[in-house]
Amino acid sequence: MWSKTEYNDYVQDTAYLMQRWLQKQTHIANHLCTFELKHIRADWSKKRRSSRGGWYRSHNGPGISIAMHHTCRPTNGQVLRWYEYSSFDKSEVIGGFYYTDPVHALQGVIAHEVAHAAQYHRYYTTNESRDKPHGRIFKLYYHALRKHCVNPTIENQPVLLVRRSRNIKAIAKQEGYML
Ligand SMILES: [Zn+2]
Repeated sequence: MWSKTEYNDYVQDTAYLMQRWLQKQTHIANHLCTFELKHIRADWSKKRRSSRGGWYRSHNGPGISIAMHHTCRPTNGQVLRWYEYSSFDKSEVIGGFYYTDPVHALQGVIAHEVAHAAQYHRYYTTNESRDKPHGRIFKLYYHALRKHCVNPTIENQPVLLVRRSRNIKAIAKQEGYML
């Protein structure tokens, strides 16, 4: 289990790596070459359940704020599932996934919020119209981030699925739902 400082550093480093990688994806959209995160926050407030990616007026640019307490809660070695937005949770590339190390859930959340930040960068720096929060533009950026910056490093999904099916009751308790 990492310390808070290690998690905080991880958020900064990962967000900047994703930013740098997106800047090179000009074949997806031209404006990405100037995409720069002006605000990256790891928020450990216990009440905070959802993370955010968007435009931060106080920083005059795009940014992300991650709900750390909720995202990085310990798994105690259980196979948990990180859930995506319900309309694309089942997608093979941009959907949810299994994990035993919370750092992978954190990776997924960061990619999701960086994609929103890039979406807002598009809106504020081009004449393009605003797209739906989880619409086509968001999915375009998120798909690219998941495919190249997240999915290659997550844990072996078929192996975790087998482990999970062996222990589903304990996991349901951990994830907080009733079977
Ligand atoms: Zn979202």
